Parts: sequence; C-alpha cells; structure tokens
Amino acid sequence: MSDFSAFQVRRTDDGFERDVVRRSVTDLPDGDVLIDVRYSSLNYKDALSATGNPGVTRNFPHTPGIDASGVVVESSDPAFAPGQSVVVIGFDLGMGTAGGFAERIRVPAGWVVALPDGLTLRSAMVLGTAGFTAALCVDKLLAAGLAPGQGPVLVTGATGGVGSVAVRLLAQLGYEVVAASGKAEQHAYLKALGATSIVDRDGARFGIDKPMLKETYAGVVDTVGGDTLVTGLKTLRYGGSLAACGLVESPAIHATVLPFILRHVNLLGIDSVQLPLTEKERIWNRLAGEWSLDLEQTVTELQLDDLDAAIDRILGGNMVGRGLVMVQGE
Ligand code: NDP
Repeated sequence: MSDFSAFQVRRTDDGFERDVVRRSVTDLPDGDVLIDVRYSSLNYKDALSATGNPGVTRNFPHTPGIDASGVVVESSDPAFAPGQSVVVIGFDLGMGTAGGFAERIRVPAGWVVALPDGLTLRSAMVLGTAGFTAALCVDKLLAAGLAPGQGPVLVTGATGGVGSVAVRLLAQLGYEVVAASGKAEQHAYLKALGATSIVDRDGARFGIDKPMLKETYAGVVDTVGGDTLVTGLKTLRYGGSLAACGLVESPAIHATVLPFILRHVNLLGIDSVQLPLTEKERIWNRLAGEWSLDLEQTVTELQLDDLDAAIDRILGGNMVGRGLVMVQGE
C-alpha cells in the first residue's frame, strides 16, 4: 500500500480545518522503520497539536497522533524485521513528525519498542501515552516510598485518560484511592474502576489561601497542575509524594516551600516523552506483566472520521477514559 488514509490538520485564515485525506508513503519523513499502524489513541496533547499549540506542533499540514501500535513493513535497522509487532509513543511522533492518526508512519528505530509478551496491539493502545504515564507516576511514587497502608492516594482529573488508568492501577495494587473529578455523573464509572471515594474537582483546590492543610494523602497523582497541584502538596502526609504530569487546569503553580520544609514531602516530575527507551521498555514490561489491567470499561472506540469531534471533546475536558483510535484495527 503506497497510498494510505491519514487524519490531517491544515492551517486556514480562520484557524484550522481537520479531515481524513489520502497520502503517499513518499510524503512520510525519513526514518528507519516503516510501520503499518493498527491502533492509535487520543491524548490531550493530540488536541493541543490539532489546534496549533506552538509548544507541540508548529508546521502544518500535519497528522497528529503521539501513539501508534502496528506491524513493521520495512526496517533499515536489523533490530526490527518485517511482520514484527511494535509500539511507538512519545519522542517527536505526532508533534513535528507525522503521527499515528494514519495507516502508515515512518520513524527512527530509537523510538520503537517491540510489543511485549502479555500485551496486544489493541491493549497497548488502550493504555497509550496516557496509561503509560499513569504507570510512570505510580512507579515513581513507589520508588519514593509509597506503600499500601500509609493512607489514601489522591488522583486528580480522575475521569481523564491518565486519571482513569491511575485509579485502576492503584486500586489493583491495594491502595485506597480518592478520585477528584468535575464530572458528577461519572461517580459510578470511577467506583467501578476502583475508587474508594470521590471528591469534587473544586474540593481538590479547597483552602488554596491557607499555608498548610490537614495531612490527608500518602501520595498524589496529579494530572491537572495549577492550584490543584499546590493544594495536593499541602494535604500530603509527612514524607508523602506528589507525581506531577499534567497541566489541563494550569501550567503555573504559586506555592510556598512550607510543605517541603515542614512535612518533608516530594514533588516528582513525570515525562513520558523523552524518557530513555530502556526505561520505556521497563514500564511497558510492568504493564504487560505484574501490572496487567483490564481497562475495557474505559474505552471509546474512534474511527479516523470521529477524531475531529473527539478533539473538541478532550480539549473541553469532556472525554471520559481512553479514546482508542481504530486506525486499521478491528
Ligand atoms: P484528559 O483530557 O483525558 O483528562 C484530563 C482530565 O482533567 C479531564 O477529563 C477532567 O477530569 C480534568 N479536567 C479538565 N479540565 C480541568 C480543569 N480546568 N481543571 C481541573 N481538571 C480539569 O487528558 P489526559 O489524561 O490525556 O492528560 C492529562 C494531562 O496529563 C494533560 O495535561 C496532558 O498534557 C498530561 N500528560 C502528560 C504526560 C507527561 O509525559 N508528562 C503524558 C500524558 C499526558 P474530571 O472531569 O474527572 O475532573
């Protein structure tokens, strides 16, 4: 197949237009590995790319999609052979490089991970960057000393992609999970994922004007940033940690050093994009094995034609769970 379907974003005088077009393999950037994409997934960052956020994508026309799973068509790197199942997330995929919302991608071999035993091309993209990032947050919290029995763990933006997987994973690992969400109608969904209790999104910012708040959480997975992150720091128990991965509320934090010097807490940075490949493989292997998760209840299947509307939904904070893009999957 030298021609293939791709979701494309074009800049216009009024903003951006998005639809599915036919493209040629010769349009793809240079790279070592040509991949027949079976699944992708919709992440918040794809919506930023599709709306011209200059920190994500500057050049248009462009095909977003920071995630892809598929089968190698050809590879100039002997590490990969035609027919091999692989996963690509992060690096420049879907940002400056044509991404996974297309039936073909071509990428450097250094971005490609062999699909681990225990995952399928579909389940890898049900996880996608969001699920991988949730696992990275939990992995770093555990390395910082979090253990069951220390107290509840708060997950903010809980019905979102990262949040949903974090709730499920922490519950499966035996943690008491408090989910912070702005979606009052999704409490049953969060309970089914394993949340012990739910606080309103605004409740997760309560007391922002106070220097410190009651010691409540042993750990926090924060996907939203802003005042919610700062409140999370003030509510950590002595020695607790907050993993910060997101910015949907705000990238800015206005905090004092008090939680750090009075309660010995840790603020942990999370980046799934440039994480070295060996670390990516370690996290994928955890998700394929000891951290295997049933996430089907979180899945909304999307065709390439559905992405235009779905991008508006995720930008508005209205997605629930994971958007699985059925590029050529069944
Ligand atoms: P989603 O849109 O799926 O989830 C975000 C959730 O945050 C929403 O569903 C909503 O959940 C909540 N939310 C929305 N708007 C606001 C608001 N104004 N204030 C507070 N909460 C809000 O996004 P993803 O899960 O894909 O990504 C979450 C964040 O993590 C993004 O900022 C993304 O860029 C970042 N990210 C970072 C990565 C990294 O490597 N550091 C990798 C992957 C993602 P609810 O209604 O339940 O409150």
